Order: sequence, then C-alpha cells, then structure tokens
Amino acid sequence: MANAALEEIYRALGEEGLRKARWQEKMRVWGMLAQIIWTGLFAAILTFSGWAAALRDSLGGNGVWPDLLFALVFMVLLSLFNLPLSWFFGYWVEQRLGTNRQPLTGWLLDQLKQGLIGAVLFGLFFWGVYLVFRAWPGGWLPALAGVVALLMIGIYLAQPIMIRAQFKAEPLDDEELNAHLERLFEKAGFAYGGVGVLRAGEKTARGNAMLSPKGNKLEVLVFDTLLDEIGPEGLELVVGHELGHRAHKDWPWILTIFGVLIILGLALAYAVLGWVAGRWGLGGPADVATLPILYFVLTAWLALAQVLTNAFMRSREYAADRYALELVPNLEAFERTFVTLAQQNLSDPEPPEWVEFWLHDHPSIARRLEAARRVVQKG
Ligand SMILES: [Zn+2]
Repeated sequence: MANAALEEIYRALGEEGLRKARWQEKMRVWGMLAQIIWTGLFAAILTFSGWAAALRDSLGGNGVWPDLLFALVFMVLLSLFNLPLSWFFGYWVEQRLGTNRQPLTGWLLDQLKQGLIGAVLFGLFFWGVYLVFRAWPGGWLPALAGVVALLMIGIYLAQPIMIRAQFKAEPLDDEELNAHLERLFEKAGFAYGGVGVLRAGEKTARGNAMLSPKGNKLEVLVFDTLLDEIGPEGLELVVGHELGHRAHKDWPWILTIFGVLIILGLALAYAVLGWVAGRWGLGGPADVATLPILYFVLTAWLALAQVLTNAFMRSREYAADRYALELVPNLEAFERTFVTLAQQNLSDPEPPEWVEFWLHDHPSIARRLEAARRVVQKG
C-alpha cells in the first residue's frame, strides 16, 4: 500500500499538471546552465573590453573606499545584466506554469527590493575579500574565513527581511490552532513566537512555510495559499518538520558547509586571478577590477559543488520528516499535505534521478512518502 498517497498525487496533478511539473524540472536544469553562461558573458564583456579596469581607475584606483564603491557598482550592474534572465526564469516560466498571480510591474518592484538587499550584502562581502587578498597576499586563508563567516551570518539574517519585503504578514486569527501550536513548540522545547500568515496568494499560487527568528522566539511564517488547503492538522506537521530542522541544528551545519565551499571557490579564483595579472589592464588578486572574473569562477564552482550541499540537505530533510512524525504521529495528514504541496508547486513526484542528485535540496516526494511509511511502521 506504499503507493496509495503517490497515486493520489498523480491523480491530483492530472495529465496537464504532470506535464508542467516535468517541464519545470527541465527549466531548472536550463536555468542553472544559463546562469553560468550568462555570468561568464558578463565577466568576458567587462574584462576583455577593458571596462573593468577603466571603471576601477575612474572610481579612484585600488584603495579601501574605492574598492567598496567598485564592489557595489559591480553588484548593481550585475543585477541589471541579470534582469532578462531573471525575467525569463522567474516571471515568464511562472506565467507559463500558471503559478504567477502578479503583474510585471509588481514583480519588477520585488526584484528591485531584493536586488538592493543582495547588492549591499554581496557588495560588502566582495569588498572584504579584496581587502584580505591585498593585506595578506601569502596567508589570506584565516582572515578570509572570517569574511565568509560574516557573509553566512548576513545571509541568515537577511532571509526574514527578504520574505517580509516580498509578502505582507497578518497574525493568525485562530485561537485553537494557536494553542495547539504553542503546545507543539513546548513539546519540542522551543519558545513559540506566534504565526504570521503571509499574504502570498495575491502574488503566487505556490505554497510554502518556514520558521523565522523573532527575538529569542521562533515565529511560524506560512503562505495563506498553503494554510487554506492543508488546515490545522497539516500545519502542525509542517511546523513539526521545521522544528526538526531547528532541533537538529541543520542551519548552522548547512551554512558551515556552504561557507567552506565558498572558501574553496575563492581559493580557486585566487589561482585564476594570478594567471590574468598583467592582461587587460588587470593587476591580479589584489586588484578589485578582477571581481567579474572572481564572480564567474565562484558561480561556476558553486553550480558544480551544490551536489555536495544538496546531498547533505536531502539527508536532513528525511531526518526532519522523521522528527515531525514522531512529534505529530498523523501519517494520513502528512500524506495529504504532500498532495497539496505537489499540486501547488507542480512538483514532479519522481524527477529524473540525475536532476534530483544534482539540483534538488529536497528528496523527491515519492522517496519522502516511502520513508515516512517506514518511520510509522517501525514506530
Ligand atoms: Zn525541510
């Protein structure tokens, strides 16, 4: 009977839903490849034309403040150059899938807000990288690890800001459910920070939920689209799953692994920058005008290395599912929630194995349902 829930998902998706889900998987692969090529094109244009060197000179050459200015200008130019690609994979694809509910102007405004936060965060990060490369040409590793650690903290802190910038939140108007969730948090040993229902439905048909730090408590943030469909029982399981991530300290682990991969990518870039010294008006790793090349090397490296982070994250997903089912032993609601999630996000329940291996940070729904059955049977 292991496949009853899976069959239900195929039924719920229908022929058209499944076709869209499979197309979405293809677009995921193309999106990743396009990003590498597009970033390479941007680096090539800026570097071979001599514009990167010219921009550095016009901003005052290499120095503490000119470097910061260069990094920020680079990030803004990159966001603008990326806009057509973002539009294609972020808007046009969503439009074709039927998940988009936003006019183009609203989408552009969201892009602008998120682009600015990202530009500042990564502008500061790359600034730090070049300061370190210049200050310790022979021994940059320890200081670089510090700069990467700051970036990881920045990414962690920026996440709730990014979500709030995109969706308006309203407190949950359901006392009974609030009391239920509070008990659930208590059982798991976490301080309950309430529920924020995100008004996502005005922008997207997709469903999602997450926990977000609120002072020293944790707030549940859930898309109204998802809450409307899965109800209180489903939400308890979704929250249980997210509490599992917290209980297992998955966030610090994921950020640590990601940080180590970034350091390796920067080491790779450092070697490449040594090789370009003296060409196209560039001065090697100490010259901030090499940032377009560094950025490209880092992007390509992370696109390949995500195989490792994704494998780790998938293993954490199983553990979080197990935790949720131990906290809320309701397999029927667990399976129902997956039917809704698959339908809302047009998930292919059984994507091509190599795509899952390379690009998915969650195991396929078919695998998760099977693992859940095993947990319940064993328990
Ligand atoms: Zn998860």
